[in-house]
Amino acid sequence: MAESKRVFSFEFYPPKTPEGVAKLRTTWKQLAQLRPAFFSVTYGAGGSTREGTLSTVLEIRDDGHHAAPHISCVAATRAALREVIHQYKDHGIRHTVALRGDLPSGLAMSGEFRYASELVAFIREETGDWFHVEVAAYPEYHPQARKPQQDIAAFKAKVEAGADSAITQYFYNPDSYFHFVDQARALGIGIPIVPGIMPINNFSQLARFSDACGAEIPRWMRLKLEGFGDDSASIKAFGLDVVTDLCDRLLAGGAPGLHFYTMNMAGPSSTIWQRLGLS
Ligand code: FAD
Repeated sequence: MAESKRVFSFEFYPPKTPEGVAKLRTTWKQLAQLRPAFFSVTYGAGGSTREGTLSTVLEIRDDGHHAAPHISCVAATRAALREVIHQYKDHGIRHTVALRGDLPSGLAMSGEFRYASELVAFIREETGDWFHVEVAAYPEYHPQARKPQQDIAAFKAKVEAGADSAITQYFYNPDSYFHFVDQARALGIGIPIVPGIMPINNFSQLARFSDACGAEIPRWMRLKLEGFGDDSASIKAFGLDVVTDLCDRLLAGGAPGLHFYTMNMAGPSSTIWQRLGLS
């Protein structure tokens, strides 16, 4: 992929406290200097962050940057989703990440849409081609998929429903990404599939997330990270080396960009960015 066409983006979650809001403001201003294509803002399952996502997206946009809200359909009614979609359209927002979402464990799935493909179709039905719609993709497969073939078929269904591009769940094994892209291309899926990148900052948090979302921490990395114990400086230094190398391999292998899960911090993503020589 031509370097000039690559798409780089950063993801935030809507902060819950005034301090968090102030910190995020500093974070995006710092990351904006890297001139990413867009910032995206997550959406709590069942609309739990609906107002926070909207206000964060609008503030980023009003600060002069391209902002994309995530929208998830789990536990939501058609009417509520219609309202959310049109609210963003009325504000002139033209980019979204459409997801099913996850409910907290123990709660059964509910709502009028079962899968993200139905949300994508609904966005198209309601707003035509107003939005650039991103969807999620899983190089190591979604943990609830009964088999890989079914998961890639579910991905294809999202593309056929109208997705323009995809962002992957994070992973640390570049082969899983390249294999996934090859499978998608073999099925005639042509949209860009941008790798999601999770910088490593805190091992216990990463291990928890990875268990929940089905992202593998390769054994050699897990052992090394465990071996650092409480030595957070070594964890961060190792994490920066490993993740920079991963990004380097992905871009060299033709990845159409990178999407950083920032956890609302500028430091790790911008250090990786600089090491990659992207600025
Ligand atoms: P889907 O594509 O609907 O897939 C969910 C499961 O259903 C998969 O196992 C799939 O194989 C299966 N499936 C789909 N269609 C069918 C079918 N027709 N028949 C049988 N099985 C099917 N979560 C949030 O709550 N808020 C966010 O802001 C958020 N942002 C995210 C951003 C990215 C880039 C990624 C990768 C994930 C994000 N998530 C977010 C997490 C995501 O919501 C979860 O991974 C969720 O479990 C699946 O969402 P999905 O959109 O991939 O669902």
